[in-house]
Amino acid sequence: MLYSELAETFDRLESTGSRLEMTSILADFFRRTDRKDLRTVIYLSQGKLHPDFYPQVLGMADKLVLKAISSTSGASEQKTEALWVETGDPGTVAERLISRKKQTTLFSEELTVDRVFKRLTLIENSGGKDSQDKKIDHLSNLLHDSGPLEARYLCRTVTGRMRVGAGDMTILDALAEAFATKEDRPSIERAFNITCDIGLVGEIIANGGMDAIRSVKVTVGNPVKVMLAERLPSIPEIIERMGGRCAMEYKYDGIRVQAHIGKDSVRLFSRRLEDLTSNFPDIAQSLRTHCKSSEAIIEGECVAVHPETGFMLPFQNVTHRRKKHGMDDAVRDIPVRIFMFDILYEGGNDLTSVPYGQRRKILEDKFAIGGMIQISSAKTIESAEEGEKFFASALADRCEGIMAKSLSEESVYRAGSRGFLWIKYKKDYQESLTDSFDLAVVGAFYGMGKRAGKYGALLMAAYNPEYGRFETVCKLGTGFDDAFLDGMPELLDGGKRETKPASVDAEMIPDVWFEPSVVLEVTAAEITLSPVHTAARNIIAEGSGLGIRFPRFTGRVRDDKLPEQATSVDEITEMFRLQPGSSPDQE
Ligand code: ATP
Repeated sequence: MLYSELAETFDRLESTGSRLEMTSILADFFRRTDRKDLRTVIYLSQGKLHPDFYPQVLGMADKLVLKAISSTSGASEQKTEALWVETGDPGTVAERLISRKKQTTLFSEELTVDRVFKRLTLIENSGGKDSQDKKIDHLSNLLHDSGPLEARYLCRTVTGRMRVGAGDMTILDALAEAFATKEDRPSIERAFNITCDIGLVGEIIANGGMDAIRSVKVTVGNPVKVMLAERLPSIPEIIERMGGRCAMEYKYDGIRVQAHIGKDSVRLFSRRLEDLTSNFPDIAQSLRTHCKSSEAIIEGECVAVHPETGFMLPFQNVTHRRKKHGMDDAVRDIPVRIFMFDILYEGGNDLTSVPYGQRRKILEDKFAIGGMIQISSAKTIESAEEGEKFFASALADRCEGIMAKSLSEESVYRAGSRGFLWIKYKKDYQESLTDSFDLAVVGAFYGMGKRAGKYGALLMAAYNPEYGRFETVCKLGTGFDDAFLDGMPELLDGGKRETKPASVDAEMIPDVWFEPSVVLEVTAAEITLSPVHTAARNIIAEGSGLGIRFPRFTGRVRDDKLPEQATSVDEITEMFRLQPGSSPDQE
């Protein structure tokens, strides 16, 4: 397949704002794609070369891309750079300059999807002394045979800024439309949730249809999207919702880890699918020796403990293990324990459809507990009183609260979904009206007075998975210490945009826009109806969205969360409804 066909499809996708239309453009294209190219085409339509859990990322610096454009088009470096300053987008620069290039030469070779994929892989893997020159050469090789449109998307892909906006949900919709029916959509999504590999799902459905999709199983090495909890404001409400009886576990405050224990090796994934194995080599090794089965996938929370007393330490301590340098020292100085709380796979069996009670038994049976390998404290609870007692003991043991888990036969592991099979209850719920929020930074306002010359406040958004967009909820200017204020440009500027990113829905206009990427934890006094914020607009009251009042940064950057894992608009709506006295006519 020619890359020009893919570039034309990207162009059509980019020019429509309608998700339905995007879906049908993609479905039509997937049907026409050679089966052998489909997997690659799906990755490329997200600006990637492989699933998200691969550690490599394409991220060629703009300056190098400009050099490749200049050498292929013959335009001077000054002219290329001036155009880049004007447009801010290497893709547009390439499109404008390459259009002046004579396309047919004796030495041109067809630009196929396969060729593009191979060269981009070489760019991604270029390392060492001459890596910059090698990257420029590989990109020039492709640009040499590109038309303007192909050049636009090649340059956007190599810089890691595709901007087409084909999110996972749109691609899954398109796969259902192209190869199955609407009714099959949940099964296709499940296959994705348990493999985290959308290209693989596309390949399976195109070649084997729905039978093949339904037989996709959890496998060691492919992370599974994590199951998440709902929240309720009190223990009695939790017990009632659970039908009078449930399990309760301590809610540990650390880093969630999904461990894939293979015969000879172990890989640890974060909930945003990063490989954390090198951060917790001691945990990885111990899991292998403590696991009685040849293969297993478990989940647990990694918590730092005091080297002498063994007491659990606050979350910040374990984050030192995420810093790249000096890991040997960190392993020695910051002892960590993993508190396992679930098992998704064991000895050839996919356990995600097995009820929680049975999974817990298997977890207890298949591991030798001791040293850094621990299992979450758990108890069957049959009254609110028992629940309150368990909650108090969790706090006394320095946990942040409890997780209530359904003991019903339906309590399967729901990969990638948030539901009432798990309900969390935290210490904070007693102190304020709402839980904390994890919000994506979508913009910044320049500061004044003491903050002049820096970013003074941030525009924060919740995620709406239904539309794949970020809807604003507050302007955040409190809770920043000097170090955070100084570090903001480094944290945020990689995602700086001249105009509002396509995935952001905002009415408030900041001085600088950001592609959503950084997630911050924020507390607030209450959720109110808002005329300016766009979250849940028209859901509670016509013409109003939901905003959060007196937002305050807690100091915690949620670098374990992708922006799409930020607090969702539905959660905020639900929290608004749970607030005492919330009604559409307030404020
Ligand atoms: P939070 O910010 O409250 O940790 P979250 O959005 O990360 O919330 P939730 O599903 O809302 O995720 O809360 C569950 C989280 O609590 C899990 O992601 C996990 O990291 C942590 N956790 C700690 N102990 C347990 C446990 N025993 N069972 C399940 N999750 C636990």
